[in-house]
Amino acid sequence: MVEQPVEAKRAGAPRRFLLAEDNVVNQQLAVRLLERQGDQVIVANNGRKAIVLLTQAGFQGFDAVLMDVQMPEMDGLEATAEIRKMELQTHTHIPIIAMTAHAMKGDRERCIAAGMDGYVSKPISLATLMAGNRSSGSPTRSA
Ligand code: MN
Repeated sequence: MVEQPVEAKRAGAPRRFLLAEDNVVNQQLAVRLLERQGDQVIVANNGRKAIVLLTQAGFQGFDAVLMDVQMPEMDGLEATAEIRKMELQTHTHIPIIAMTAHAMKGDRERCIAAGMDGYVSKPISLATLMAGNRSSGSPTRSA
């Protein structure tokens, strides 16, 4: 499977995001931001649910995962590590962008170590969300 950067698809079909986030307010904010620009969003309430949805989709059909770090059942770091493990079998690599409410020192390193591709701090804005789609994403504010 040939990988395309998320931004390369903007001119064509709407992008499809998997949003793993347990907080309803944050879910609504992210969904509104993405739908406003024509993207589609599927919401999972925790990391385990996100993995179920990814598995059901055969690890295809999503352009990126927006992954909250702190979630019940399975947090974003665990879920990312599990997804990366499963991708050894599927030979895919979905971009995973971490979302965290506290820009603590070491957060970014932990997210990257878990296999995430980018990092944004909450509350997210469209600008930081798109910046987080590049691996150079870095925390710019705390929440
Ligand atoms: Mn959370």
